[in-house]
Amino acid sequence: MDFSWTEEQISMRNQAYKFGKEIVAPNSAEMDEKEELDWDAWKKAAEFGFQGMMIPQKYGGVGLDPLTICYTMEGLGHGCRDVGFLTSLGTHMVICEIPILEAGTEAQKEKYLPKLVTGEWVGGFGQTEPGAGSDVAALSTTAEKKGDVYILNGSKTFITNAPIGDLFVVLATVDKSKGHKGITAFLVEKSFEGFQAGRKLEKMGMRASPTGELVFEDCVVPEENLLGQVGQGFAVAMSTLVWERSTMLPALVGAAEARLEEAVRYAKNRVQFGKPIASFEAIQTKLANMKMHLELSKTMFYKVAWLKSQGKPATMEASLAKLFFSETNRMDALDAFQIHGGYGYMKEYPIERDVRDCIANTLGGGTSEIQRMIIARDVLSMYE
Ligand SMILES: Cc1cc2nc3c(=O)[nH]c(=O)nc-3n(C[C@H](O)[C@H](O)[C@H](O)COP(=O)(O)OP(=O)(O)OC[C@H]3O[C@@H](n4cnc5c(N)ncnc54)[C@H](O)[C@@H]3O)c2cc1C
Repeated sequence: MDFSWTEEQISMRNQAYKFGKEIVAPNSAEMDEKEELDWDAWKKAAEFGFQGMMIPQKYGGVGLDPLTICYTMEGLGHGCRDVGFLTSLGTHMVICEIPILEAGTEAQKEKYLPKLVTGEWVGGFGQTEPGAGSDVAALSTTAEKKGDVYILNGSKTFITNAPIGDLFVVLATVDKSKGHKGITAFLVEKSFEGFQAGRKLEKMGMRASPTGELVFEDCVVPEENLLGQVGQGFAVAMSTLVWERSTMLPALVGAAEARLEEAVRYAKNRVQFGKPIASFEAIQTKLANMKMHLELSKTMFYKVAWLKSQGKPATMEASLAKLFFSETNRMDALDAFQIHGGYGYMKEYPIERDVRDCIANTLGGGTSEIQRMIIARDVLSMYE
């Protein structure tokens, strides 16, 4: 087993770190306040190659392998510590682009991927509905075939990039009585008749990532925008969610590393009882736990990325990594907050934003309870 990185991988991580620190981080607090995506950083990220990192060169992308992507995204998160920006970017490059790459026709790939890779178009993924969150098979947005088009009716909620998106992978059912076997994926452009982005939703954290609703009222989707086969939408979604759990989250692991660095710096500088608080065992215990969680999270995501690089299944491993990281990240953000004392509660320190940002990681991409169900399913079949 070889844990070393190549020079190219180290260079990619370092460049991504620098990009995050110099281009994204300076505006993060302002974007959080305004609840807006940083468009300047978005365009520069596309020039850097982030939006095309997962896409082959023939569609204008960079075509990196999952392990290098994992490490590079970790570097970006480490440099910028902006979970909002990372969420919008990750949604675009993972859960919009990947289903097109995996299930799309050649014509769909040629039509949409180059626009997404350059950042000219923003992508999203519409699965969740007001009445169907964890229970994806219960979704009720309908798709009815009429001649050479499908007519979509229904709505989606909590959709990342909904207010700013140009293209959405949308799940709808062609026959609700078939449960998950009726679910079908479509590519919906914002200009399609009968489609509109609904309300923008105000959030507690990740505010630099706009979130909102999608509304379909007799929305006309050409047959050629069917993504995969009729009835295969559930499989498209499940595969996409494994990619989300495995390649979006390493960026947030990087952000957690930046938070640990700051907690250490603060603990060394803050003097109480005549000593830096870093000399107190209670503070050191928190820092040690953070480091342990960070290293384990990294190792778990590297394994997932390695499995993906080998073309091997990684469903359970992705759930294990997602569950462990999102749960410990929440605890560690609160511990870092505690180390900052009253200053941590004030907006002038970024730890306040970290706490708000990391709470939702145990929801998006499948809740912790759902991750445990996936893991338990495998465990039960694995051992007698
Ligand atoms: C910031 C943010 C961004 C998001 N972006 C997107 C996006 O881009 N696209 C998209 O489609 N969705 C998105 N989502 C939605 C997200 O995927 C859902 O919130 C998530 O799947 C949970 O669904 P729900 O909120 O309806 O909760 P519910 O499914 O109603 O769950 C409520 C609670 O019940 C628990 N629960 C449910 N079923 C079970 C069970 N069988 N056993 C035990 N416990 C159970 C859940 O774990 C949870 O604790 C986003 C959410 C957030 C917060």
